[in-house]
Amino acid sequence: MKRKLLPLLALLLFGCATGPTFFSESYLAGMAAREFSTLKENMPVSSDPAGTAMVNRVSLRIAEAIGSEMPDAKWEFVLFEDESANAFAMPGGKIAVFTGLLKYVESDDELAAVVGHEIAHVQLHHANQRMSAEVLRAIGGVVAAVGTKDMESDDRNKILAAYGVGTQVGIILPYSRGHESEADRIGLMIAARAGYDPRAAIRFWEKMGVANPRSTPEFLSTHPSSSTRIRELEKAMLDALRVYEANR
Ligand SMILES: [Zn+2]
Repeated sequence: MKRKLLPLLALLLFGCATGPTFFSESYLAGMAAREFSTLKENMPVSSDPAGTAMVNRVSLRIAEAIGSEMPDAKWEFVLFEDESANAFAMPGGKIAVFTGLLKYVESDDELAAVVGHEIAHVQLHHANQRMSAEVLRAIGGVVAAVGTKDMESDDRNKILAAYGVGTQVGIILPYSRGHESEADRIGLMIAARAGYDPRAAIRFWEKMGVANPRSTPEFLSTHPSSSTRIRELEKAMLDALRVYEANR
């Protein structure tokens, strides 16, 4: 039986450049919503009115710009009181920024670079891909990919969850370098579509590279060196500036 199943597994692994996804988006959004609630119960929400207003203002504009592509999103933006220079977004439209990050943010355009990058991970289904890769790793792939293929997607999700996939760790697994580069590029366009100057992304990532050589916030953890990142952003800048000019 195993022999018969392998070709399909190979197809799943290599047939798609960006990686297979096993989870339905609605399942991931539900999981993310629960985890976001838990986070709010366990981590203090900032009482800084200016910072909170900035996060809300920028996130809302970005959500409006891409809203038609995420019609089911239940958008929520929260500034958490935490020293680490970090931010993340979850499937279903949950955006979290930490106060430690705002120390490096000097304008709405710069914050838009971060939020654009994070929401790009969501739009590109990176969490789904990472978690699905974990499924393959955790249970050898065959059982999850093929043994449940005829089931309704909700049943399959339940089985995959029962194997311990999709825990809190699962949903915010570190992204690969490829995912980071992709999120940089698409994030630039998202910020530009929302009317934010994409050139701020270069200023911001340069600052982060210098200020935090040893820290590993989400977007620095697996990314290539700061100079490679800047070079890639510069390559995408002309297109992003066109979009910005049309939307500012
Ligand atoms: Zn990232």
